Parts: sequence; structure tokens; C-alpha cells
Amino acid sequence: MTATMRAVQVQQAGGPFVVADVPVPEPKPGQVRVRVHACGMCGGDAIPRFGLFGTQLPRVPGHEIAGVVDAVGDSVQVWQVGDRVGVGWSGGSDFTCEFCRRGDFTNCVDRTVVGSSYDGGYAEYMVAPQDAVAPIPDALSFEEAAPLMCGGITAFNALRHSQAGPGDTVAVQGVGGVGHLAIQFASRMGFRTVAINRGRAKEELARQLGADEYVDSTEQPGGEAVRALGGASVILCTVDHADLQSELVNGLRPNGRLIVLEGQQPIQVTGHVLATDRLSVSGWYSGVAQDSEDTMNFAVLRGVRPIIETHPLEDAEQAFQNMSKANLRNVLLLHMN
Ligand SMILES: [Zn+2]
Ligand SMILES: [Zn+2]
Repeated sequence: MTATMRAVQVQQAGGPFVVADVPVPEPKPGQVRVRVHACGMCGGDAIPRFGLFGTQLPRVPGHEIAGVVDAVGDSVQVWQVGDRVGVGWSGGSDFTCEFCRRGDFTNCVDRTVVGSSYDGGYAEYMVAPQDAVAPIPDALSFEEAAPLMCGGITAFNALRHSQAGPGDTVAVQGVGGVGHLAIQFASRMGFRTVAINRGRAKEELARQLGADEYVDSTEQPGGEAVRALGGASVILCTVDHADLQSELVNGLRPNGRLIVLEGQQPIQVTGHVLATDRLSVSGWYSGVAQDSEDTMNFAVLRGVRPIIETHPLEDAEQAFQNMSKANLRNVLLLHMN
């Protein structure tokens, strides 16, 4: 008889998360099975929830996974049973397409997304290809590591690949699930860090996390306020709000760059504005497992930690609905030891 496990599934596009008993997955050649201890909840879980981008249902969401390798498939060399590991958004590459052969694995034409292309971490166990797995440093607990696997890596990677150098001004729009990590990373990377958020409720928190300046975008337009502070080399937008992002272009210094992580509405900016000050509006997309490893190691080195709220698997639906109100990052706890 096949062993079963508890998992949260999306069974219908737009339907609620459902707790179900499903077979424990077996690792195929080149795959590892992870006994999940913690899985972060992310806005990206909306992709399986609504069956977007070709997600086949039923699907187990969850792409901020932290746990322990408990079985390995044939030909797995680098991972052993007992290793503490994380699995993030990027679910593996084909290694043979044009972009992989250039070493640009994030842009693999066959790239997969954990919890969308295949089942993710809202479950007691999940399997992943060995190239999608990153080791968790001993100094991080599972629930601390989980949110770094998507929210963390995205902020860290976008910032470290931006052109900003030590002492440059970097603004972070949003003090939420990704923003509160981005502020910490920006500060620890040596940037003069400006937090931008609506209202003053999160000002104290933002400053505790490392923000040197705080802009309340309800008092004056955020871009204007950043410009009054001398302008930013980089503005990292962590919240999907096209109107705010369009205005934030006004806060860039010459040669500055607005970096967006997501968004469904068009950002409005004239070619004249872009050309005159040689500005750019660009995007950033996640990273591969080695980037996750770098993110976690940097977090340990410089004391970056997510602020989390933990929930049992059974509360996944409620926690997802409350995500925007949540205290920064929700984490589901699966196995406790
Ligand atoms: Zn490829
Ligand atoms: Zn995510």
C-alpha cells in the first residue's frame, strides 16, 4: 500500500485551498524528496490558485520550502538523506536550451516553477530536481529560511545585480512581505536606504529594519519625496501598484533605475523622461538555487531575518486570504522535528 500524506491542493481554479490525503511522492532519477518542515506563503501562490500560466490542477502550491532530504533518486550525487535544504521558486532547468548553454539558467525556455509546474511545499513531502535545491546554513531555522527562498532571494538578487554601490541611495517601495526583507538587504549591502510606504504605521519598523529615511507616500508623491532627499540610484518596487511606480520614476537620479518585481497594469513614463536623464525601468525575476544559497549565507553573515507568523497546514486557506493584512510573512509549519 502506498503511504499517504497531508497536502493542501488547489482543485479548481479560483477555488479554496483544500486539505487532502495524497500519495507520498517518490523521487525519480536526479530528484530528491524533501520532508517539509516549513513552507512560506507568497503572493505568487495565486498562480496555482487561479490555474494561471498553464498550471495543471489539482496542484499543491508552495515555493518557499525548508526541510530535510529524506530520500534521493538514482544518480543523485550532491545531496544525502539528512541534509537541511530549501527549494524556492525556480524549479529546475533543462541545461540544453540556448539560454542554459549560455549559463543563463533563470531564462531557461523550459524553466519550471515549484508549486505550479509540479507539486510544491504545502505538503508533508515534495520532490524536486537536484539542481533546484539549496543547503540551509545551520544558523537558520526552517521557518526563518523558508521566506528567503522566494521573497528573500528576489530582493537580494535584484539589489545585488543593480548598479548601486556602497553609499548610494536605494529606495524600497513597500514595507511588506518582500519589502521588509529588501530594506534589510539594502541596508546591510551598504546603501543609504529609503523606505517608501503609505502612512506612518510602519515607519518605526522600517527604521528598525535598517531604513535611513522614511517616505510616507500619502503626504507627498513618493518620487518627489525621494528626489527631495537627493534622488535614488535604484528604486525597488515590491508592491504591484502601477500608478505609484509611474510617479516613482521622478525620484531617480540621472542614470537611475526603477526595478519592478511584478505588476499587472502598465507603468506610464515618457520616452523624454527616460532619455533626458538616461533612466531605465526594468524587471527582476527570482534566481537559481545557488542564488538562494547566497541569499541565506548573506542573511546569516549580516543578520537579515524575515518577520513571520506561523500557521498549521489546515489554516492555509485562511492565512492566504489574510495575506495582505498579515504581519509580513506567513509560514506553514509541517513537520516539527
Ligand atoms: Zn534551458
Ligand atoms: Zn514567491
